[in-house]
Amino acid sequence: IVGFDVAAIALYDTDRAKHRISAVRVTEGGEGLVDPAQLRDLEFKDNAGLASMVVKNRHYLPAGGEPREVSAPIYTRKVKVDDARSLLVLPLLSADEAIGTLTLVARAEKRFSSDVREMLAVIANQVAIALQNGFLYKKMETMATTDGLTGLTNHRTFQTRFEDLLQRAQRHGHKVALLLCDVDFFKKVNDGLGHPVGDEVLRRVAKVLQEVPRKIDIPCRYGGEEFAVLLDNVDVVQAKAVAERIRIEISKVVVETDKGPLSVTESVGVAAFPDDGHDRATLIERADLALYHAKHTGRNRVVTWAELQAAKSKKAS
Ligand code: GH3
Ligand code: MG
Ligand code: MG
Repeated sequence: IVGFDVAAIALYDTDRAKHRISAVRVTEGGEGLVDPAQLRDLEFKDNAGLASMVVKNRHYLPAGGEPREVSAPIYTRKVKVDDARSLLVLPLLSADEAIGTLTLVARAEKRFSSDVREMLAVIANQVAIALQNGFLYKKMETMATTDGLTGLTNHRTFQTRFEDLLQRAQRHGHKVALLLCDVDFFKKVNDGLGHPVGDEVLRRVAKVLQEVPRKIDIPCRYGGEEFAVLLDNVDVVQAKAVAERIRIEISKVVVETDKGPLSVTESVGVAAFPDDGHDRATLIERADLALYHAKHTGRNRVVTWAELQAAKSKKAS
């Protein structure tokens, strides 16, 4: 439809009254016109720039498609496009609301003539609707896969992620470990201090589970006050070390309550593929048995399936 040298989409966050550039494209001819690194993820407040005005007025600027018509910067004073002879900042209108801007810049003169501008305005609105649908889809997906209280992966998604991890591990011959964590004496927290305090404890425990493992590991809300962590490419010794770190960090959490500061502990059961089992059901069952053993041998402990086996055979002999 029209040749351009630089294009950028900035999304407008109404709640924060801030714009953020979320996509930048520089064509071959656009090199040197603007520094793409300066644009990428640039965040700016509502100001006197063109993008802010366009979002407010819901109409493109400059009216004739040329930068010399306006003295205002596109985004902020720091971003300069001195060599541009054509410029257009279009609103992304979805249901009459501007969700951001699409900016087109060209070195050549008169690129964005009146009929091109009208056509681009229509296209920008199609872009806005597509983006809006995408955001909605993403939000629904997040709602369907995460637990509302803690923001962790929910039980159903845990099961599918675990299955995926196991299948990949089987194909590539690497290991996967499962930690099952259960808060100790959690009923006492609820009964003594109330459900909202219990919920706060769960959120804080979840935070530890998000922070201690690596980015690629998957912490989940398994149910109630039970959590699971999937550790990819980790053997049982490493898994136990992670579980210990989690256990220690959870014991350091302090929740302020009406009856004073509250601390909790948790017990962890560990089972690993392929040493302790080959399928999801077996691994969950064995991690759970290890967890049960941790509970019955004092709580605030980590027990692996192998340790449980060793304890059993010692008792038998
Ligand atoms: P143990 O050390 O043996 O694990 O004892 P426990 O009291 O933690 O174990 P139990 O399974 O008996 O108690 C779990 C409690 O978790 C029961 C339930 O009231 C509470 N619970 C489950 N889900 C939630 C939740 O979403 N919020 C809150 N506040 N409590 C929950
Ligand atoms: Mg429990
Ligand atoms: Mg418990």
